Amino acid sequence: MSEKKLSEQLLYSPKHGYDRLSDAERAEMEAYCRDYKTFLDRGKTERLCVDYCIELAAARGFVEYVPNMELKAGDKVYCNNRGKGIMLAVIGRESLAKGANIGAAHTDAPRLDLKPRPLYEDAEMAYFKTHHYGGIRKYHWVTVPLELHGVVTCADGSEIELHIGDKPTDPQFIINDLLPHLGREQAKKPLGEAIPSESLNILVGSIPVTDEEEKHRFKLGVMQYLHETYGMVEEDFISAELEAVPAYTARDVGFDRSFIAAYGHDDRVCAYAELAALFALEMPQRTAVCIFADKEEIGSEGVSGMQSQAFDKFMSELCHTQGVSLYECYAHSFCISADVTAAYDPNFAEVYDKRNAAMVNYGVGLCKYTGAGGKSGASDASAEVVGKLRKLLNDDGVHWQMAELGKTDMGGGGTVAKFMAQRNIDVIDAGVPVLSMHAPCETVAKLDCYMTYRCMKSVFEKA
Ligand code: MN
Ligand code: MN
Repeated sequence: MSEKKLSEQLLYSPKHGYDRLSDAERAEMEAYCRDYKTFLDRGKTERLCVDYCIELAAARGFVEYVPNMELKAGDKVYCNNRGKGIMLAVIGRESLAKGANIGAAHTDAPRLDLKPRPLYEDAEMAYFKTHHYGGIRKYHWVTVPLELHGVVTCADGSEIELHIGDKPTDPQFIINDLLPHLGREQAKKPLGEAIPSESLNILVGSIPVTDEEEKHRFKLGVMQYLHETYGMVEEDFISAELEAVPAYTARDVGFDRSFIAAYGHDDRVCAYAELAALFALEMPQRTAVCIFADKEEIGSEGVSGMQSQAFDKFMSELCHTQGVSLYECYAHSFCISADVTAAYDPNFAEVYDKRNAAMVNYGVGLCKYTGAGGKSGASDASAEVVGKLRKLLNDDGVHWQMAELGKTDMGGGGTVAKFMAQRNIDVIDAGVPVLSMHAPCETVAKLDCYMTYRCMKSVFEKA
């Protein structure tokens, strides 16, 4: 055997995605990414994601699950968890005693929430105080156009939905930064300290009410607008969830349009991959389940997070219709924790182990473990679980790569994987490599988005 042949046979040398992609795959990838961009634009918050998922699911024959509903193979149901998380299932031909194929992603993203008492005035301008949600780099959020979304529960219990800034005629909002001319001292500070979180105050107005004797003329001007438009009074902010998110839509990036830049790829890029794969199923062998959890960015806490029993309730009800124990189902299930990973960025090469980093355009990134400081906080998938997925993807010609989140001891991160493992479900992380993850505008490669969809499709059909 020649040494060239020996090398081909023995050494692992992944191929660039575009050297493997067929014309048919490329066309399917472009169509898929067009729909994904719409998903991003319609789903700027976890609540909007749920709304849009329901709209898409209903158009494909999914119905809302009601307890004790009779279910047969091929039936499609969804369960809305308080408007902030959603679970969807396509019932399989096999009993749930043999397990389900599960995709778990999250649709919350780092952002700026309004504080319970956000509105104040200073120097004849009105502002909203914010409390950041999730891991953000504060300096990213100044001088970025913002829009506001959320709900307000009023004193009488009625609810107002608020969406300002996403329509072309809407005003938008902004957080201002110091001009370089006066930034000499600020520029000497470490990045993490230059923009303190309490300075992330959103500019919301500057026209006072006419009464010059009024003490809070500028604040009152804003409150007057909110009252006339939405019927709100200031106390209503206390029972509100209002989120400020970047006010731009998803766009192709590069002369060759190979990337998509947008807010919220983490983790809507994997949620959409799951959703599209679920929609492609007719009557799978095993029941296929998607969960889009909320609160992943703050530790998967809360009733809408992956640690909540909302998922167990839904699954146990599905099991109940077949007289199957939930524990039995979990023990035989297979889960992809579909979440993004860091893409190797040559501008910051020092934080990556290049041999073990995910590269753009090499396909879905499988993470055996996440965590920090020696895998702490990771569920660490077994060789058997990694092997099962590797074989499945190779058999189906899905482009995949192994991914570690940066060099050891450089930092780290987590996903919902460990909360599925706690349920006795075999789980592995897989998702799209992202450039500038958690920034107001993140970048992904279309090929990797498409291959994550193909990965989920293989799992739902064959795992
Ligand atoms: Mn994530
Ligand atoms: Mn994240």
